[in-house]
Amino acid sequence: MKFGTKVIHAGIKPDPVSGAVMTPIYQTSTYVQEAPGVHKGYEYARTQNPTRDALQNNLAALENGAAAICFSSGLSAMDAVIRLLNPGEEVISTNDLYGGSYRQLVKVHARYGIKSNFVDMTDAENVRAAISEDTKMIWVETPTNPMLNIVDIEAVCKIAKEKNILVCVDNTFASPYLQNPIDLGADIVLHSCTKYLGGHSDVVMGAVIVKEESMADHFLFIQNAVGAVPGPQDCFLMLRGIKTLHLRVQRACENAAKIADWLKEHPKVNRVNYPGYASHPGHEIAKRQMRGFGAMVSFDLKGDDYDVAKGIMTATHYFLLAESLGGVESLIGHPASMTHGSIPREERLKVGLTDSLIRLSVGVEDVEDLLGDLKKALG
Ligand SMILES: *Cc1c(COP(=O)(O)O)cnc(C)c1O
Repeated sequence: MKFGTKVIHAGIKPDPVSGAVMTPIYQTSTYVQEAPGVHKGYEYARTQNPTRDALQNNLAALENGAAAICFSSGLSAMDAVIRLLNPGEEVISTNDLYGGSYRQLVKVHARYGIKSNFVDMTDAENVRAAISEDTKMIWVETPTNPMLNIVDIEAVCKIAKEKNILVCVDNTFASPYLQNPIDLGADIVLHSCTKYLGGHSDVVMGAVIVKEESMADHFLFIQNAVGAVPGPQDCFLMLRGIKTLHLRVQRACENAAKIADWLKEHPKVNRVNYPGYASHPGHEIAKRQMRGFGAMVSFDLKGDDYDVAKGIMTATHYFLLAESLGGVESLIGHPASMTHGSIPREERLKVGLTDSLIRLSVGVEDVEDLLGDLKKALG
């Protein structure tokens, strides 16, 4: 099955009761039993729900994994992944990680003895150099947020495999339409489904997709034992959003390429971060491991003046000033004070996340309107 067919059909069957084409919202907390322990495979809705099952089967197919397990947010999915580690063990992560992922590692898991090491993974050899006896997991985010750096997933996985270390790839920015980390050697894929998968800025949800069936047990256990589960209505909305994933991401990528080209020529703009440029240091890797360059673009300003950046961010009309990304509508944001506010300034500057850095999540509107909006705001 090809991707555009998978998003619509994989793992989804018409409802056996009515023939409904759309998976019904099984809005129930429990299921009747014929006799104690005799049931149809559903006992209690934290543990199993048919709407959630359809979504999980669909997500597993989109990422070419053995199973998918959904959680109530991307960060609760991440929490389930980090729970594979024991106190004293270490996770090596990309150094310009999503702010919330960084905060969870250093402010939550560190208290329980999980160690973190953040390295520049744009050179995979830096990962090899950072590995210690305690390293049990490598956490990759690519393209990175908000600098749009590219990590060579295959090269990192090769280094990890030599030492029997698990690799988890946060594939939120690319979406499964553009990149499938399991095909490149990753053991686990994480999604904040809140972003491209849902695509309509109306659901918060996370998912873990595993390469091997044997790894599913841990995540099903955490899903049930910790209980950060998505509700059936959210699972329905997610299934609906996914049906147009390929169309949305394709259009958003086309729009982003045009916007990046326009920004690059603008006299007020200092640097544009976009992996589609041949001059981008990760361009060749992106060409190899992605099927498009994504719809995220970030740029900073000559003079690096926050007030000028603020003026631009409050002057756009179609680009809404908001956190998040991956929806049909275009968003504009200021990573230093918004998504990455929890990262100390010195750490931010080290990775090029300057005070005037502006991040765009390019949506699927008509690109002429988006360009006109930016032209006015930058003018
Ligand atoms: C948003 C995001 C997360 C967190 O997901 P939530 O659904 O907001 O909990 C994790 N990683 C990346 C790359 C994200 O963009």
